[in-house]
Amino acid sequence: MKKIDQAKKFLTEQMSLFQCPVCKEPFEKLQEHSLICRNGHVFDLSKKGTLYFLKKASKNEYDKNMLSARFAIAQAGLFDPLIEMVYKNITRKEDGTVLDVGSGEGSHLDKLVHLGLKGNLVGFDISKDAIILAASHFTSAFWCVADLAQSPFAANQFDTILNIFSPSNYQEFERLLKEDGQVIKVVPDADYLIELRKLFYLDQQEKQRYSNEHVIQKFQEHFSETTIVPIRYTFPLDSELFDQLMLMTPLGWGATAEGKQYAMQHPLQSVTVHVQMLIGKKGS
Ligand SMILES: [Zn+2]
Repeated sequence: MKKIDQAKKFLTEQMSLFQCPVCKEPFEKLQEHSLICRNGHVFDLSKKGTLYFLKKASKNEYDKNMLSARFAIAQAGLFDPLIEMVYKNITRKEDGTVLDVGSGEGSHLDKLVHLGLKGNLVGFDISKDAIILAASHFTSAFWCVADLAQSPFAANQFDTILNIFSPSNYQEFERLLKEDGQVIKVVPDADYLIELRKLFYLDQQEKQRYSNEHVIQKFQEHFSETTIVPIRYTFPLDSELFDQLMLMTPLGWGATAEGKQYAMQHPLQSVTVHVQMLIGKKGS
């Protein structure tokens, strides 16, 4: 089936997962390639079957090189152990409705599918380039460009919200989740890519450090029965993977030209992945 026909089938069957991001009314019909709400707001499917829900283009810092590097290193397995832990903790693996918030180029959701995740899978990101990449590689989910602050998703429809290395809006998560729904959030911990940070910020001790204390605290304020799972492992690198790692990470943005130069001259053999997985239940 063509990607656009597959997307049309999904939208026809699962229209109740969505709401108009402009007027918040339900969508009424899919006409040709357009989703139309009660008040006549129209959103068009692309040829790749992706839906664009933004009213105006967003500026974001993830350029195509960064996204391609992220795709490549994810395929090489950088995130595999942590995604396996996410998979283990998804409550409805067979027939649930899963929303990947800030899906990026789609690697995490796709990996979950390969591990056995089934059901209605929706990934979205504010970056159009990320969603184009996701849709071109991964056909197992429905992909759309959307803004969490102007959500095109309907209330009480989702069993699991995934929030992996991406921004949160807990009020919105509460609204989207079903009564017994869950949020699984992954945040970096102190030693996440620490070797790379030390290279980039050789002379800036304070930039080498990272604390997620505030993020975890905020999560716990919303979900009082939070389960916290620490995950830590080392991922081996060759020179190609090291280059991709440098390209994919926002860490480099704050580094000086000297810092980047120094890092290029001192390629790493391995890198530490150190994260916390936070699991919260709606209404807890
Ligand atoms: Zn509308």
